[in-house]
Parts: sequence; C-alpha cells; structure tokens
Amino acid sequence: MCGIFGIYNHKNAAELTYLGLYSLQHRGQESAGIVSSDGERFLSKIGQGEVQEVFTKEDLDKLNGKLAIGHTRYSTFGASDIKNAQPIVVKCSKGNLALVHNGNLVNAKYLRKKLEAEGAIFQTTTDSEVILHLISHAKERNFIDVLKKVLPQLKGAYSLILMTPTTMYAVRDPNGFRPLVIGKIKNGFVISSETCALDIISAEFIREVEPAEIVEFKDGKMRSYKFSQHVKKSFCIFEFIYFSRPDSVIEGRSVHHVRIQLGRNLYKEYPTEADIVFSVPDSANSAALGYSQESGIPFEYGFIRNHYIGRTFIQPKQKIRDFSAKIKYNTIKDVIRNKRVVVVDDSIVRGTTSKKLITMLKNSDAKEIHLRIASSPIIAPCVYGIDTPTKKELIAANYSVEEIRKFLGVTSLHYISIDGMISATGLKKENFCLACFTNNYPV
Ligand code: AMP
Ligand code: SF4
Repeated sequence: MCGIFGIYNHKNAAELTYLGLYSLQHRGQESAGIVSSDGERFLSKIGQGEVQEVFTKEDLDKLNGKLAIGHTRYSTFGASDIKNAQPIVVKCSKGNLALVHNGNLVNAKYLRKKLEAEGAIFQTTTDSEVILHLISHAKERNFIDVLKKVLPQLKGAYSLILMTPTTMYAVRDPNGFRPLVIGKIKNGFVISSETCALDIISAEFIREVEPAEIVEFKDGKMRSYKFSQHVKKSFCIFEFIYFSRPDSVIEGRSVHHVRIQLGRNLYKEYPTEADIVFSVPDSANSAALGYSQESGIPFEYGFIRNHYIGRTFIQPKQKIRDFSAKIKYNTIKDVIRNKRVVVVDDSIVRGTTSKKLITMLKNSDAKEIHLRIASSPIIAPCVYGIDTPTKKELIAANYSVEEIRKFLGVTSLHYISIDGMISATGLKKENFCLACFTNNYPV
C-alpha cells in the first residue's frame, strides 16, 4: 500500500501535491516525499513520518515548477529505511527521471538478479528501483517505446507515475490491482491513487487509468497508449473493504456505499437479535451503519478511537503493534453495560486487535458479543502490495471460524461470504483479485 499523486502543468504543483498526499495519508505513514520539476531540474524533499511532519512551508516554497509527484509510503517489500522512501530520482541514459510506485512486483527478485548480473548497482532494496533500471537499459529512443518494452517485463501490481523534467506518465498494470485516477485542474492534470485527493484540491474527476494503459501528459495534452493486449482485470477487493477512504469513488462505486452494503449483507446472511450495533472505528463505520439499517438494530458508538496515533497495523514491528492496539481504542462503558452488542469490524488478520477489543467489551460488561466481519476469512498472504503477514500468522489460515470464536471468546462470530462481498460492490467477480480469501493468485 502506498499513496501516489502527481500534478502536471499547474503553477502551484508542489503545494497541490502536498494537499493530495495529505488526503492519501491513510495509504501509508512511514515516509512521504515530493519531487517537483521546474522544466529542467528536479527539486525534492523526502522524509520519514507523516506528511505534515515531513514538509515545512519553506520546503514547499523551494519546490518550484509546474510538475510534481508525491508518495506516502507504507513498507511491504524493502526494509523500512529512508533510502527506500519515494519518489525515487535518477539520472540515467534517458535523462532525469522520478518515479512513484504503488503495488508490489512479484518478479522483482528475478529482474534484480538479472540486472545485477549485467552490472547494475542498486541504491535501495525496493522493487520500484528495478523499473528505473529497466528503463535505463532499454535501447529504444522514444520514451513511449521504452515503456512499451519495459512494462510487459514486470509481473504483479504497479500503479506508477513517472516524471521527466517536462512530461508525466501514469501507468497501471494489466491487472489493475491498485487504483489510479486522472483529474483536471484548470489547464493542468492530476493523477491520484484515490478520488478523495482530487476533492481536496477541487479537481474534476476525468476517469480511471485503464489496466495496461500508459497515459502521457506532454505539451499540455493527454494521450493514451496500450502496452499489453493481455488485460485481466483483478482489482484488489480489499481497497473497498479497508484501504480506500469511504469518500473515494472506485470503479464508479462510492466506497462508503459499498461498505454500507457489506454491512447489510452481513445481517442478511446471518440475522441476529441484539440491542445495539457499533463499529470498530473508523474502517468499519460504514459497514456497521449498513448492518443497523438492514436489521433495524440501533446504531451506537461503543468504541472511541484516539486519532493521534496513526494506523497501528502499518507500523512494521510486532511489538509496536501490540502496544498501540491498546492505546488506540477505548469503550464507552455506559453504552455497552448489560447490552447484547453486535460489533462490526472490516477484517481479522492476525486476530490480535480483535482479541484486545473483545476483552475491553467484556470488561465493560457486555451481556452478549456478536462479532461480524465485513470480509471473508483471510487465508493467504497478499503479494500485491498489502502488508498481510505470512500464513503462519494469519489466524484464519490456521483455525476454523468456530475455533476463532472460542479464542476470541465471543457469543457468535460471522464473516461475510465471498459472494456477499462481491455482491456488495455491484461489480463482476471475475474482475477482482480475491487471492487472500481464496489462495488463487491471478499473477
Ligand atoms: P489484526 O487482526 O490484529 O492483525 O488486525 C486487524 C485489523 O487491522 C483490522 O481490524 C483492520 O482494520 C486492520 N487491517 C486489516 N488489514 C490491514 C492491512 N493490510 N494494513 C493495515 N491494517 C489492516
Ligand atoms: Fe487485495 Fe487480497 Fe488480492 Fe492482495 S491478495 S491484492 S489484499 S484481494
């Protein structure tokens, strides 16, 4: 997971990119960076931490130019190290290049070994750098031809923005695993992981970048090229369930409304009598509301989340995660005491968060606890850029639903079915990646 953003042809490119990254903060909090171009030179500021920690007003003032790209990083492949922060900037046989990447290449190791055998020297441990080496090695002269040569060699998930001093390119892999949208602002263009970042700068949504498409922004115009005929749409369903912001629109669907429907389907699949329903905030808010709408059970606030500690799961070390799960939530005891409660969460990964939350509910004297999960059991790791752990750590890969129910100590536990997830999106099953739920990997 990462957030990527770009502005082509606007006098406040860096400032707008800063705002864009600000609303893509949920996609990664480990590092942030912006590179701008004044038409000849690149200027950059990259640092560890959240967007507002990394950039000062003075930094933004120095990032001149009408083009800028930015990145918020969440580490998956590659160590959590400032060297791995993006944008990556290189001076190569094709001139100055800057790149931001969301997704994970599944053949990065293979490509890297091959390139190293040919003499390439890598600066980072990220898979993204491989892309730049391939570009530098390509013999073609026209940049679109270079991309058409390089991109088909990449396997896995990549939504990219590439910048030269005067042009910008938005690219999406042939499976379209990760989102990428195009917007318009005055005479300029915007590229963003999610539409919520278009809204913050009042840009108008144009369309999504298609799978296997290169969109070129050059001489003030936008042009489209296809780089592969082997398109097999496999959009990550987890974007709907957890990752994207509810105010974003993906594949023409409001993420909030999809989540409402997930909650409705949860109730339809497994009707339950209870006094109140509430969410594990914030990611399950919409689903809990949907559950309440479908069931008629009053919607409440059972948990309050401390907003000042970031997303626990995103921090790479288990020890930190254990600690922050405790400080992230508190219960409203008056709401919960002696009640039969339905708690809706978006997913159970390791089960550590749920275990702690359930203990808190018990300590708040809930009479019955019915846990409802707005995704199916996660039985396999993601290799396309989401930080799910190995099979050993995935609770549903090792235990049955009944065993998990006992371990958590809840009155009942129900995960939505795969069909229930799909039908909530209103989209076709064959257009989704469902690998972490089915163990069938599209690439
Ligand atoms: P756990 O079961 O303790 O590993 O954590 C599950 C919680 O983390 C869920 O309630 C989600 O809200 C959240 N979550 C699920 N998947 C991810 C992910 N890939 N990255 C960050 N947070 C996640
Ligand atoms: Fe998304 Fe799961 Fe596929 Fe990864 S494996 S891309 S999280 S659906």
